[in-house]
Amino acid sequence: MNILIFGPNGSGKGTQGAIVQKKYGVPHIETGVIFRQNISKKTPLGEKAKAFIDRGELVPDDITIPMILDRLKEDDCKKGWLLDGFPRNLAQAEALWAALQKEKIDLDYVIEINLDREIAKNRIMGRRLCKIDNNHPNNIFIDAIKPHEHDGKTVCRVCGCEELSARADDQDTAAIDKRHGIYYDTKTGTLAAVNYFKERVKVISVDGSVGVKEVTEELMKKLG
Ligand code: AMP
Repeated sequence: MNILIFGPNGSGKGTQGAIVQKKYGVPHIETGVIFRQNISKKTPLGEKAKAFIDRGELVPDDITIPMILDRLKEDDCKKGWLLDGFPRNLAQAEALWAALQKEKIDLDYVIEINLDREIAKNRIMGRRLCKIDNNHPNNIFIDAIKPHEHDGKTVCRVCGCEELSARADDQDTAAIDKRHGIYYDTKTGTLAAVNYFKERVKVISVDGSVGVKEVTEELMKKLG
């Protein structure tokens, strides 16, 4: 099973991606994770990619495209893959499509999580981290996971601790706008890549504005 998943930052793509990966038992290949691993291991690829990532820009296609096409040739990908974070622009979409055609590899599903840009931005800015456990979901802009109010204080909705904080990069509006600028660009950006696939295969689109559970339900129904 070969799957692509698209969704803007803040759409819950990571969460849904993990669920899809489990359903099909295929490796979850995330471009951002591969880059970060290379940066922490100080590999030549990591050294080259770091400056672009630090500036919030895309790593150039001549580095990213071969890196991903090589990754898809590794043994664990023989049973399929879930590609997340690639393609991120039209050129990458064209390169991936050409490589798949050449190797006669089918694309089984292309998933798109739709979310309005303003809502996606609010969701990122509303995230709150619990000091006790980072995995306790709290978001001041999402009703289903809103932190609780207790004695006039905002507390973690899971454990009740008072130490909720916002991650600095979640409050960096310029960085969020830059990332979203790339995603919502229908000319050469990520949405251009999504549209490119829409002309070639059936793209499964789900509404990302509802709760995590509801998104999963719609997705599972459409995946069949
Ligand atoms: P992510 O973890 O998906 O947010 O990716 C972190 C960073 O890695 C991005 O901001 C980009 O700088 C870089 N990156 C991830 N995927 C790609 C891609 N497909 N093409 C170019 N750069 C990418």
